Amino acid sequence: MQFNFRCPTRIFFGQKCVDKYSSELAALGKKALIVTGGSSSEKNGSLAEMTAALTREGIQVEIFNEVEQNPGLATVYRGGQRAREMGADFIVGIGGGSPLDAAKAVAVLAVNEVSQQDLMAKKWSNEPLPVVAVPTTAGTGSEVTPYAILTVDWAETKMSIAGEKLFPALAFLDGRYLLNLPWAVTVNTAVDALSHSVEGFINNRATPFTDLLALESIRLLGRLLKTLNPDNISLEEREELLYASMLAGMVIAQTATGVIHALGYPLTYFKGLPHGLANGVIMKASLEFMAQDAPDRVQQVVKALGCTNLPEVGEVLTKVLPPVNLKLTAEEAAKFVSKTLQAKNLANCPQRPADKDIYEILKASNLARM
Ligand code: NAP
Ligand code: FE
Repeated sequence: MQFNFRCPTRIFFGQKCVDKYSSELAALGKKALIVTGGSSSEKNGSLAEMTAALTREGIQVEIFNEVEQNPGLATVYRGGQRAREMGADFIVGIGGGSPLDAAKAVAVLAVNEVSQQDLMAKKWSNEPLPVVAVPTTAGTGSEVTPYAILTVDWAETKMSIAGEKLFPALAFLDGRYLLNLPWAVTVNTAVDALSHSVEGFINNRATPFTDLLALESIRLLGRLLKTLNPDNISLEEREELLYASMLAGMVIAQTATGVIHALGYPLTYFKGLPHGLANGVIMKASLEFMAQDAPDRVQQVVKALGCTNLPEVGEVLTKVLPPVNLKLTAEEAAKFVSKTLQAKNLANCPQRPADKDIYEILKASNLARM
């Protein structure tokens, strides 16, 4: 047996963990820029609790609350400038994956005045500022990954930057912040987490240790997706979702993602589907493709989900996800296939998909006629 594993992030999980462990923030410096979205962190209490904790530790705080969903480069450059102007020592990301990823890019740009091309090519020389992550969705696992996913208009897609120094230094996971997360966001993000565990489990970079994390996360998510009541999700269930998403993040931090994410990105970029939903609509067909080369692995996923076969997995997903009525034109399908084939995560699949395989996934997912 041989494998590498890293998770340099210190994780604090549980109710009021920001308050309980605020002294950990003091070691990171005297000035913090909080990077967050337009409104949710203000409503769910996370922003106020983090601001209070920082202030109590004698840390000067400024807030940059301009992060949109699927953050673009213009936003993170504005955030980087704010961080430079205030002389920030560290960056605190609060929100879903969008603000957490934006915080990581801001941490790079705060100390590196580089072009967009150089940012995406990781041509920067100064180490990014430390990042603190407070997730308020349960899906991306960004609080424990070394990735920042950004929307890049000149490439007409989403692209990631990855680096050892992009792992957050600290992560605070408190299920209370998710209590009022809308049902659609809850489900879409849970399916994003599921896609991380599923891809991580089937990818050729899987290890015995990531398998352990992935299967536990798939089991939890399989049970929750079948039993959650849209009108009444308990704090305990919110914590389970957050925990499963964190485990899935630890998986992709080692294994990276695969064909589901590669094809999901154009669905988000060109058609505006939320990230988790984009992955969810193509998950069953992608599993059918992966079963050609890794039938045993796919069967283990099916079993961990508490299902007996792939059609049953498809039914669970269709039942829980918002409906998607989307038919790509032949031109669009061709563009999506070519964008997907350029994604670097395809190298992680048990068998690299060819263009016909991507077409087949789109067709089997009811997104394209052919
Ligand atoms: P998101 O884009 O961060 O947020 C979606 C929506 O949910 C926003 O409208 C946000 O409002 C709202 N929201 C967030 N927390 C809430 C709460 N507690 N209560 C009520 N509303 C809340 O969604 P996401 O799915 O978490 O993140 C998606 C992004 O993460 C994508 O760009 C994806 O590519 C990326 N991602 C990153 C990784 C990684 O490893 N780094 C992995 C997978 C995906 P506000 O705007 O007001 O905050
Ligand atoms: Fe994802």
